[in-house]
Amino acid sequence: MKAIAQFVVRVSLPPELTDLQHLMRNLRWSWHRPTRDLFAAIDQQAWDRVRHNPVELLAAVTAERLEQLRRDDAFLQRLADARRDLDDYLASGGWYAEQLAAGEQLPQAIAYFSPEFGITEALPQYSGGLGILAGDHLKAASDLGVPVLGVGLFYHSGYFSQGLAADGWQLESYPDLHPRLLLRRLRDAGGDPVLISLDLPGGRTLWAQVLIVEVGRVSLLLLDTNVPANTDEALRRTTDRLYGGGPEQRIAQELLLGVGGVRAIRAYCAVTGSPQPEVYHTNEGHAGFQGLERIRELTTGEGLDFDAALQVVRAGTVFTTHTPVPAGIDRFEKSLAARFLTEDRALPGVPLDRILELGSESDPAMFNMAHLGFRLGQRSNGVSRLHGQVSREMFASLWPGFPLDEVPIGSVTNGVHAPTWVGRHMLADGLASDLPDDELWQRRNLSRAALVEEIRRRTRESLLARGRSPAEIGWVDAMFDPDVLTVGFARRVPSYKRLTLMLRDPERLRAILLHPTRPVQIVLAGKSHPADDGGKELIKAMVQFADDPAVRHRITFLPDYDMAMARFLYAGCDVWLNNPLRPLEACGTSGMKSALNGGLNLSIRDGWWDEMYDGENGWAIPTADGVEDPARRDELEAAALYQLLESAVTPDFYERDAAGNPPRWLRRVRHTLRDLGPKVDATRMLRDYLRDLYAPAARSGEVLRRDEYAAATGLADAITRIRNAWPNVAVRSVEVAGDRQPGDEEPVALGTALTVRAVVDLGGLDASDVRVETAVGRPSADGSLEDVDYVPMSVVPGDLATYEAQIDLDRQGPMGYTVRVTPRHEALTGPAELGLLVTA
Ligand SMILES: *Cc1c(COP(=O)(O)O)cnc(C)c1O
Repeated sequence: MKAIAQFVVRVSLPPELTDLQHLMRNLRWSWHRPTRDLFAAIDQQAWDRVRHNPVELLAAVTAERLEQLRRDDAFLQRLADARRDLDDYLASGGWYAEQLAAGEQLPQAIAYFSPEFGITEALPQYSGGLGILAGDHLKAASDLGVPVLGVGLFYHSGYFSQGLAADGWQLESYPDLHPRLLLRRLRDAGGDPVLISLDLPGGRTLWAQVLIVEVGRVSLLLLDTNVPANTDEALRRTTDRLYGGGPEQRIAQELLLGVGGVRAIRAYCAVTGSPQPEVYHTNEGHAGFQGLERIRELTTGEGLDFDAALQVVRAGTVFTTHTPVPAGIDRFEKSLAARFLTEDRALPGVPLDRILELGSESDPAMFNMAHLGFRLGQRSNGVSRLHGQVSREMFASLWPGFPLDEVPIGSVTNGVHAPTWVGRHMLADGLASDLPDDELWQRRNLSRAALVEEIRRRTRESLLARGRSPAEIGWVDAMFDPDVLTVGFARRVPSYKRLTLMLRDPERLRAILLHPTRPVQIVLAGKSHPADDGGKELIKAMVQFADDPAVRHRITFLPDYDMAMARFLYAGCDVWLNNPLRPLEACGTSGMKSALNGGLNLSIRDGWWDEMYDGENGWAIPTADGVEDPARRDELEAAALYQLLESAVTPDFYERDAAGNPPRWLRRVRHTLRDLGPKVDATRMLRDYLRDLYAPAARSGEVLRRDEYAAATGLADAITRIRNAWPNVAVRSVEVAGDRQPGDEEPVALGTALTVRAVVDLGGLDASDVRVETAVGRPSADGSLEDVDYVPMSVVPGDLATYEAQIDLDRQGPMGYTVRVTPRHEALTGPAELGLLVTA
């Protein structure tokens, strides 16, 4: 790999066309259709060939064509319009500016860290949903004017390109990416490229340049180690691939992303005069080291001690967890982490034992990046309601003893960026859902027909690449039918997503595909992680099934799933299929993109679909939740899937009225567009993050920084005091005033008020350090309480150890109660934050 020394466009554009360069430098073109169409109009074939990269397009276009365009008034007019539109977009402050003008207290900047960003297929720095989400997050922030600053890595070969061998086995190749003008370097005031450094074991220093991608109003900083300063080839390759290499490379990448990322932000703000972020959002655990670098800054730069610095960092940090799959949790051998993090290395001055404690988990030999994320972020969330609940169960051990609904992990359901994902035929002047039946159906037909063309083109290419001769593949010209119900399934291929569930009963699937009057056609795509041979076996099985001459005109697996293919699929498929093993799909977003185009979801009730399925916007595949045997469970769920396709989905699609439209189908499509559209929109997600997480985090951080961090020191001292005293805190006795005693047989009349009294030993703490409550609820079989209400208890005047509360028995049936003590401090978000709890 050679260091990229220059970022130059090879063509010199005629002066009439220089606005093209202005347009391509800001990736807003990736979701602004008129600008994309303008690029495509330069040379449609070249545009497709260069994966929609305008820089490469201009390098590929002939001088004659440029000469023609220079004199094409209509083209010049479109160019001028596009430029004006971009300039107007960048100049206006958007929704955020209105909020600020209305006096809302909002952060001045938010840093958003992610190991991958999917903004456009021309910049393939993503492997799947996590990266696409990060891209959509930046785009929605741009549209709303939210001051987000993205931070990631630049991978020279991105993820991999997927091909197929003759037998269907996945082949990987790693293109060398030269995105040139899509990025620019961060330079200091003197014009020299800024270099970020990070000390690694063995006395080595890793250097990285900072590449800036403009995403509308938002900037994205990508750190890149492919620079001459790294004379060691291995160091230079640190960021060569996304999720490549072994643990050493992975931890070096994550240190660069987190620690180097913060250093890049400091350099960027210094050079550009941009405000420093008040909130740091880590999208999944990989960027968790950012919090440690901020601790280092505060201890070595501001003179805070570790504990006060930790509180400042926590207050301003939001952590989002993205997977309930245990194997998906990012962990390192503790010894490896220690080698990279020991005192004189990446984070000089930060005590190693404190770092290791922050990443500790049940296995003492491991360092857990998710645990680090929760411990460094005062606020955290999962990515759908169900995933929030699953995460509270999964990470409950970090807050031992607390009931699950008090485990402080919330949820913000993901969303998708509509302008990126709505296909051209579904764009309407008003709402597509308001179109009359004829027109709505016509648009769905046009989208499907465009997809069929694309499927034929891609299948032809794939078969040629797999060694078939042109003479053997004439049938491809007529494969798939623009009038047949089209089902899509495209996503990464980890085992829990069950790519091959539909192959459980191959005969039944064949019958569905080949039904004489109500046929179905299925298009599949997805990459398996290069190290996952199990996933590659699934792809091979799918490809071999689709190779069968009896069904190959109705089912196909397209290689090299990426954003460009995805847009065709979401726009053209009538049904979007998802059959994960519940509840392992954290959210899932492809179905949302399909819904924005009027596609109907046919899905297991997992992730987003669990909360948004309403009976009318698609179908829920029943799950065999309690069934332990995985083969049996697959069999039951596959049978339910076939059943739905045969007796619910196809009848609705093929029923036609006198005008030839499918009335029941269109009712569902219209309902989906109208009702799901706003709920799955990424701007809804961004507003949720702002209201529930970013704005509160900015306020917490601001409070702790006041008076030269006096509040941070006060909070850290209080926490230390509380932790030290906690082993001595105890509830000595609990009684109900009067004759009633726990265990009395005689029922109490509804509406009775009881006084609960407890003697509490505060272990030397002040009354103001604790919260004493009566928990009232229903006794459950295991002896705990369910459906609990907490009633605050107050000190009985004159008796500092006795607390009292009055409880109203306003529910029928058996009731139980207990008394609990938790820490209290105004800077804590709730009773569970410190994970300390004493009960009677
Ligand atoms: C949306 C998207 C994904 C994520 O899909 P899921 O349903 O969340 O698995 C993956 N890859 C691409 C290219 C996408 O556009």
